[in-house]
Amino acid sequence: MIVLNIIFYIFGIIIPSVIILLSVFVYKKNIKRNTLISVIIFLLFYILKVGGYNLMFKNKVTKDNDNVAKETINTNTEENNEESIEEENIENSNENDVKENIEDNKSNNNTNNNSSNNNTSNKNNNEVTTKPNNVSNNENSKVEYIDGVPYIDGLIIVNKTYELPKDYVPKNTYKEAGSAEYCSTCLDIDTYENFQMMKSDALALGLNLWIQSGYRSYTLQQKLYNNYVSRDGVEAADRYSARPGHSEHQTGFAFDLNTITDSFQYTDEGKWVNENAYKYGFILRYPKEKESITGYKYEPWHLRYVGKDLATILYNNGNWITLEEYYNLTSTYSN
Ligand SMILES: [Zn+2]
Repeated sequence: MIVLNIIFYIFGIIIPSVIILLSVFVYKKNIKRNTLISVIIFLLFYILKVGGYNLMFKNKVTKDNDNVAKETINTNTEENNEESIEEENIENSNENDVKENIEDNKSNNNTNNNSSNNNTSNKNNNEVTTKPNNVSNNENSKVEYIDGVPYIDGLIIVNKTYELPKDYVPKNTYKEAGSAEYCSTCLDIDTYENFQMMKSDALALGLNLWIQSGYRSYTLQQKLYNNYVSRDGVEAADRYSARPGHSEHQTGFAFDLNTITDSFQYTDEGKWVNENAYKYGFILRYPKEKESITGYKYEPWHLRYVGKDLATILYNNGNWITLEEYYNLTSTYSN
């Protein structure tokens, strides 16, 4: 992809620009004709670039029918790349890309308002509330509920066992989530800033990272999950999509990178992320061969911010440890 970009910039942009500049300022003739030629050259190389991307992209996509990934694959690979360069555009582009799911089930028990979702603060001001039925005593000693939000060591814990209140909206975010259903930049400020650092370090190596899916509201997650259930059934949907209230995307501390496909793991970006994300405080939340522990299939694209210290421990020299293993937690629905 980098080669395509270089070819495009040299032949598609620089050469036509030089032709126009020469004819306007140096030769001062045939300006119209030369401009037309330049535009044609630009378009030719642009088409070449887009065509090249699509070709490369198609070759990499796995053909697993069961793969959630396909939900977010679209023919906009090219556009997504452009967007990742211009931050401002990110969130506008993604509404169509998100397709997750779950059944219309559990509205949750925790109706407390969610004034505190700063990971570390407010512990002392809030009462600790009850736990879900299927949590073992052992876990109960570690997990505390602050305004209905489950925490361990100041870290929000969300999986199939632990859920967020329906009205939980992340605070201290780069962009305010408000009533947005979906927003790539409505992420916790540390999460967002560390992503920006990771992105720019990756870019210096010629790797292009962008947020495909960031914050998602309870309501949106409900719609997505329902769609998946009607398409694939509950059992299959539960392997790749969280039920509403159980999605890390509602926390503001998690996001999906680039293309939500299994093939992401084989891209230069996917390999680099797997080896380096922990340096920026991110973990691969659903590592390979941990489905029985996390409750989800391998998701090379889904990162969760936990801070550098814990991320380094969980990275474990490339042999990822899950949050469930580290804190000895279950991840199963109670019904
Ligand atoms: Zn995700």
